[in-house]
Amino acid sequence: MISTAVILAAGLGSRIREHSGNHPKGFLLLDRLPIIEHSILTLLELGITKIYLGTGYKQEDYQALAEKYPQLHCVHNPNYEDSGSMYTLYQLKDVVKDDFLLLESDLIYEKKALTALIEHEHDNVILASRLTQSGDEVFIEVDESHHLLNMSKNSAHLHDIFGELVGITKLSYQGFQALTRIVEPRFKTNLQIDYEQGLIQLAKIEEVIVTKENDLVWCEVDDPHHWQRAKTVVFPLIKAREGTAQKIPVERKVLLNPGPATTTDTVKYAQIVPDICPREQDFGTVMEFISSELTKLVGNTEEFTTVLFAGSGTAAVEAILSSVIDDDEVLLIVNNGAYGKRMCQIAEIYQLNYLEFKSPPDQPINLEQLEAYIVAQKVKVSHLAIIHCETTTGLLNQLHEVGTLCKQHEITMIVDAMSSFAAVPIDMKAMNISYLAASSNKNLQGMAGVSFVIADKFALEKTKLNTPRNLYLNLYEQFRSFQETKQMRFTPPVQILYALKQAIIETNWEGIENRYARYSRSWETLISGITGLGLSHLVPVKNHSKIITSIIEPEHPQYNFNEMHDYFYKKGFTIYPGKLDQQNTFRVANIGNIDYRDIGRFIDLLAIYLHGLKGGDSNS
Ligand SMILES: *Cc1c(COP(=O)(O)O)cnc(C)c1O
Repeated sequence: MISTAVILAAGLGSRIREHSGNHPKGFLLLDRLPIIEHSILTLLELGITKIYLGTGYKQEDYQALAEKYPQLHCVHNPNYEDSGSMYTLYQLKDVVKDDFLLLESDLIYEKKALTALIEHEHDNVILASRLTQSGDEVFIEVDESHHLLNMSKNSAHLHDIFGELVGITKLSYQGFQALTRIVEPRFKTNLQIDYEQGLIQLAKIEEVIVTKENDLVWCEVDDPHHWQRAKTVVFPLIKAREGTAQKIPVERKVLLNPGPATTTDTVKYAQIVPDICPREQDFGTVMEFISSELTKLVGNTEEFTTVLFAGSGTAAVEAILSSVIDDDEVLLIVNNGAYGKRMCQIAEIYQLNYLEFKSPPDQPINLEQLEAYIVAQKVKVSHLAIIHCETTTGLLNQLHEVGTLCKQHEITMIVDAMSSFAAVPIDMKAMNISYLAASSNKNLQGMAGVSFVIADKFALEKTKLNTPRNLYLNLYEQFRSFQETKQMRFTPPVQILYALKQAIIETNWEGIENRYARYSRSWETLISGITGLGLSHLVPVKNHSKIITSIIEPEHPQYNFNEMHDYFYKKGFTIYPGKLDQQNTFRVANIGNIDYRDIGRFIDLLAIYLHGLKGGDSNS
């Protein structure tokens, strides 16, 4: 059992000085406690009884900390200004008499980072994670049995990247002694050696294993950007995960319907909060966080803003269409599926001047025809509304090209991005989008009940004088009132918003591009799986959103969607009926907190189901 830890804490932390008040980095505060103290408390909780701090810059700060914790012992590196972390570690060579955990002082990490090493069967183990894209990462190369081969900040120096160095390592007493013998002669000419370099050398003579924790939340803090991320993403997520770990896990269901999607338990439990009146400033802060973070997913907060409503996604679409098009303006709706048709219904009910451009549900929009249609109108088209991912089929409409067209013809562009937002990357400014509608329960992986409009503030401001057609859904009023009061005009769905805040933190941790990569991998598993079973899908791969797939139903006499649905439902998977008139399809969405392994299980079950249909498989 490991009972000793060493924290390397000699660094100057010069890139983060302004935030640490000239204290070492370890004294940056989270929840009023220095980050190193969070680390110390975690170590003590896991049975560490002796912690050595390798100090340098402002050693007195650490000495003061050692007064508070009798388990702490400071060992000073007198040359800290001119030496690397290996030299700080070397100062401990006659002090440390046991196997130990070696940590950097500026780490914020989940408890399981330590348990992964403590419980690991090998003696010398380096902890790695998936790539965090933090901008200052050390990459690791290993051999096929996960022995350390090399580490570098420059990925081009490695043949193959296995993972990213976290900065927590387990070293045996023998390993440490061997390490000191390796570096000792080098110090005669050079003190600027990082401990990573020492470990690379050690791995040439001793077994040094790298273990990778793919789902580990952590960061280090080297610069103000890291610190911002630590405060708004990493630390809140660690707190939520460790809090949820104490709770009863919720039975997991794999939702393959196009939202609400499968959520994490941290999102589910984020709803369990003390009762609060939503007019309190504390709640205003939550909504402000949500509004600005949602904006940042698709644009900058100077030019764009997010207006929140209680409601399903359709509320946001209806809010835009019923608010921003004035009586003398003309809306063109691109309709290539059920959601385009829904926009026409809204326009009809509000008696807007609208035109409908119909396009086939399984083919990309013919942009020349669209342009010709716009030009041929006797009236000037002022607004164009389009679906991004048409959830009916999974077709991904060409936002960029349509945006360019709108720009050329001075048309304000409105996008229903309900089923693409937070997965398929969107840049509102580059795509010329003025209004975008989305909701909390699809790729954001939150609970159903919040819909929102992200708007170009300049365009929105101009709608101020429009004749109102609505009360609750009035976009400008909802915007103005939130700006002034940090409140929604009418009662917000309080608990759903807490869950959304958590879902946004998790989205920011994963990153939109990684999320879309995860979804895409699930989608590829789905497509190769159904193809292997003799089924086909509707939309060509190059126009596919990789979010939701319309699968053509088997032409088997025994096949019945409802029976298939019930079969899957009993096994914890929910599939969705088709929505096309001309073709019999069912739908599978691969969004939410699921991955390719869940889709693999779905395919296995689908194979069993199809083989079980009496009278053989008519598709093969
Ligand atoms: C899900 C979805 C909506 C909104 O549906 P609600 O049931 O109102 O949440 C709107 N447009 C598209 C494209 C969608 O996928």
